Amino acid sequence: MQDNYILLGVTGGIGSGKSTVAKMLADLGAQTIDFDILAREVVKPGREAYKEIVDRFGEGVLDSNKEIDRKTLGEEVFNSTEKRRVLENITHPRINREFYQQLESIRSEHGKCVVQAVIPLLIESGMRELFHRILVVYVPRDVQKQRLLKRDDLSEEQAEARLRSQMPLEEKCEYAHYVITNQDSLDYTGKQVKDFWRQLLLDLEGLGG
Ligand code: ATP
Repeated sequence: MQDNYILLGVTGGIGSGKSTVAKMLADLGAQTIDFDILAREVVKPGREAYKEIVDRFGEGVLDSNKEIDRKTLGEEVFNSTEKRRVLENITHPRINREFYQQLESIRSEHGKCVVQAVIPLLIESGMRELFHRILVVYVPRDVQKQRLLKRDDLSEEQAEARLRSQMPLEEKCEYAHYVITNQDSLDYTGKQVKDFWRQLLLDLEGLGG
């Protein structure tokens, strides 16, 4: 049976404007699943993943409230592919389960609809097949760097290191069904988002259900 909803993956690079564009889409009527919130939820005290992480990585990854300190955990796994894999094997299946539960509840509430999920590493982590459409929010590298410097108060070197660690945005665009360029005014970005939204609604109309 053909799906009667559109699942849209919104991606891009660090600071390229994913949240900005997702907010515009949400204002136009897209339902939103926030992976960042899901990732935080599944490691809360009392959840299965919490216990497994503490068993595997020790109480040193907890903060003073006995909650998992994501920064400490991030540092713990940063330099070890093996540890990162262990952590991903604990969290990813739970995040996916929550994702599908949210998707089901959105669909039963809203029927035919567009559901977006913002996922920074969507392409790198091989999640393309999950989505009906992929939107890449693009900015040229120099603009991306300037925005990072401004927003995150980084040194040139730190900003460069972050950009270098990611797949270049030009490459990500090759996987996109749609690209929104976000190097100009927010107004111009908004115009592109509206055009894209109109296109999505036409596609949605064409679906059964
Ligand atoms: P990250 O994944 O790093 O959290 P992101 O891709 O979600 O970032 P945003 O947070 O939307 O990016 O935008 C990054 C920064 O650039 C923010 O400070 C935002 O206000 C600013 N910004 C976004 N779009 C524009 C624009 N068109 N003009 C000027 N500034 C912008």
